[in-house]
Amino acid sequence: MKRTCSLAALILAAALSLTGCQCQKKIAIGAHRGFWRCDEAAQAQNSIASFRVAQDNGFWGSEFDVNMTADDQLIVVHGPAIQDVEDVRALPLDSLAHIKLPNGEGIPTLAAYIDQAAASPCMMVLEIKPHDSPERDAFVTRAIIDLLKEKGRFDPKQVMFISFSYDVCRYIAENAPEFTNQYLEGDKSPAELHADGINGLDYYYEVFRAHPEWVAEAHKLGMSVNVWTVDEAEVMQEMIDAGVDCITTNEPLLCRELLGSRERRP
Ligand code: MG
Repeated sequence: MKRTCSLAALILAAALSLTGCQCQKKIAIGAHRGFWRCDEAAQAQNSIASFRVAQDNGFWGSEFDVNMTADDQLIVVHGPAIQDVEDVRALPLDSLAHIKLPNGEGIPTLAAYIDQAAASPCMMVLEIKPHDSPERDAFVTRAIIDLLKEKGRFDPKQVMFISFSYDVCRYIAENAPEFTNQYLEGDKSPAELHADGINGLDYYYEVFRAHPEWVAEAHKLGMSVNVWTVDEAEVMQEMIDAGVDCITTNEPLLCRELLGSRERRP
């Protein structure tokens, strides 16, 4: 009798957990500019250390910003200004050599950043910063794709693209359609993006407050939905309830606490 009861309890628990899995989809955490608000990364955003700490903590993804210098070198820095430099895009790489991040690192090259990806699985959420013309945007994006190929990391499971530049998103849609490609600006509906072959959106949370229907609309079109940059528990919960696929945050541990078993891991 006792054995039958435990078996029945086991079956019930399994059924409940299956039901739970179906209605509670997993949500990914993207560490914004890496996981930098911690001692290990010493507050250094977009540093190799912040990427490494995001990997060490097992977050699904780590976001970072890519710019190109005047001598066509790809670097990881938010920019365009940093410290005494007004615009990293207007100077050659060696003019940036004196800049030190709070943890002592220099501005990382994209090549070094991509090399760090080998350490452990963590989606590279690669933001391509706008440059000064559609032609330059295309040149920068092509160079990023070529470098990823050269490094053996041109793989939709390892890297995805985000950009405020519509030209960049359209370029990715045409030249790398198999990759997740999210537009950041927030001024286009999912249907408009979809019509241009762009398969995702990554919008400021206020945009989803103004257009709560865009999450379902995007999902119906098979698009991915990411939200930036959510650092407060209340807003995180709001976005979880709204049904986004990924939350981009400077507070990934707080997001982990809220998501619990619903966190999507690499
Ligand atoms: Mg960014």
